[in-house]
Amino acid sequence: MNPTIITRDQHCISRKNISSGCLKVLYTLNDAGYQAFIVGGAVRDLLLGKQPKDFDVATDATPEQVKAEFRNARIIGRRFRIVHVIMGREIIEVSTFRAGNTDSVEIQGEKLARSVKHIDSAHSNSGMILRDNVYGTLEQDVMRRDFTVNALYYTVRQFVVHDYVDGVTDLDNRQLRMIGDPEQRYREDPVRILRAIRLSSKLGFNIEEQTAAPIKPLAQLLDSIPAARLFDEILKMFFAGSSLQVFNSLQKYDVFKHLFPETAKELKHNEMANKLLCLAFASTDQRINDLKSVTPAFLLAAILWPALQKIYKQNLNHKMPPMVAMHQAAQSVVSEQINHISIPKRFSIPMREIWEFQLRLPRLNRANTTITHKRFRAAYDFVLLREQSGEDLQGLGKWWTEYQEADLEQREKLLAPVKRGRRHSKSGRRRVKSAEK
Ligand code: ATP
Ligand code: MG
Repeated sequence: MNPTIITRDQHCISRKNISSGCLKVLYTLNDAGYQAFIVGGAVRDLLLGKQPKDFDVATDATPEQVKAEFRNARIIGRRFRIVHVIMGREIIEVSTFRAGNTDSVEIQGEKLARSVKHIDSAHSNSGMILRDNVYGTLEQDVMRRDFTVNALYYTVRQFVVHDYVDGVTDLDNRQLRMIGDPEQRYREDPVRILRAIRLSSKLGFNIEEQTAAPIKPLAQLLDSIPAARLFDEILKMFFAGSSLQVFNSLQKYDVFKHLFPETAKELKHNEMANKLLCLAFASTDQRINDLKSVTPAFLLAAILWPALQKIYKQNLNHKMPPMVAMHQAAQSVVSEQINHISIPKRFSIPMREIWEFQLRLPRLNRANTTITHKRFRAAYDFVLLREQSGEDLQGLGKWWTEYQEADLEQREKLLAPVKRGRRHSKSGRRRVKSAEK
């Protein structure tokens, strides 16, 4: 198999845009007599004139041989052994050319080990490890990659790009095309469905027709992916600045229901829920593009809110007190959701606090203490989000906006009607109650 060689004068990749650590790794490996290429998303992004977020290197040197060439390098991973070369503050991931469908073996192996109890997992694990570290040639390494635009190899020997799969043509046409038979490749590793959606959204690319066709029919295969791997994928999908695009695409291809099934049911008939999610994604993208901080806890709180509300309302109908109803609903939503996508405690705890604060914010008489809580700001933002999506909270967001901006004297004034209301009339309570629902 002969690659198309894109020579230095035919592409826009300049060493200026490649990190010094990565260049050093390439030259060191070359000097030691090994092949070394920048691969994957980095070449794709460089050719698109974008700054890559990290650099991956592929080589014919084994992990041990790579490690021997650098002062600060460590071999990581059990199934795929790759080398992290540490260059100052940068980590360059160096992987040895791999053969064939090693990803699929891993996925299926993991699946077997996890879900089919009568299969000896040690056996499937050992099979997995054996087959996973089959090293291969450059050509085999190309063919195991997912999309043609992700399978371009750049070398500092002559500064050329090796293209075995017409990736540059697809890049020019701004389309994602699966290498090989799309259906088979999705079956080998269903996460490629999410990668197609993520990368097309992030790059503004089309998914080529035959690559797109199996997505809907095969989306259910995602149900068999370990929840922890899906969580990692979700972070990549929703925190790269194009989450709204990703969400629309997940809906278009009927994939969203395999990730967040309970919310997906609500979205079918609940316009406000749709709006809430779209607004949450749009504001996440905005914050990322403005280089502001974002937390998965807030976005997950929004994504799961429609599912939570359904159970919360049922609980209220069963005469549970609001706090108990909320607590139980949160418990139930989280324990259902983690069957599909795991949510580490460092995110699920603040997420639940944001939800519980939706009951605390309407208790205006406690504003002085509520405002000091570390979850207040996120909970307040969440109130604004609910209002923007069309929920009538009787001016709760505006009240809190004014309260935060007010000095001590003004705060007293804002609180006066609330306190009077508590003593003399029911208006204060009424406001609280209606906002709770
Ligand atoms: P990003 O810029 O978002 O990191 P990426 O394409 O670099 O996108 P990575 O997850 O960093 O994505 O993967 C690096 C490369 O490894 C990909 O470009 C692709 O060639 C290959 N790859 C990653 N995941 C898979 C997969 N599930 N199946 C086949 N190839 C994959
Ligand atoms: Mg990458």
